[in-house]
Amino acid sequence: MDRLRHGGGRSTVSRRVILEALMHIGDAHITAEQLTDRIHQQHPDINESTVYRTLERFEELGITCHAHLGHGPAVWYLTDRQRRYLSCSRCGDVIDADPALFESLVAAVEDRYGFTVDFGHFAVTGMCSNCAPG
Ligand SMILES: [Zn+2]
Ligand SMILES: [Zn+2]
Repeated sequence: MDRLRHGGGRSTVSRRVILEALMHIGDAHITAEQLTDRIHQQHPDINESTVYRTLERFEELGITCHAHLGHGPAVWYLTDRQRRYLSCSRCGDVIDADPALFESLVAAVEDRYGFTVDFGHFAVTGMCSNCAPG
């Protein structure tokens, strides 16, 4: 909240509303469209482009992050903890995985290629236990 205190007027109101809506979803994640739908119930003046711009601004400030889980729109969440999503290519099921599981692989790739893998921006795709054969 403190990071948003500068500025004023209308944009401050929409920023506060959007931040509160994000806090409300807690551990989940949400698309800009779903977030707009929720906010619209009480704030019909805040449209999707405002929500989208605000989410991007929040990301620049380090408040939010987005991830691509599949072919659909990105999902957003507060950067209170790291997220590592596993997304089933067949049924679309999403697992919010333990980030620690990726650390040794990130280190190994960095070691060999000097490349820092970002497992947060895109979900790791594959097949969930229900869809995997056997
Ligand atoms: Zn992206
Ligand atoms: Zn599946």
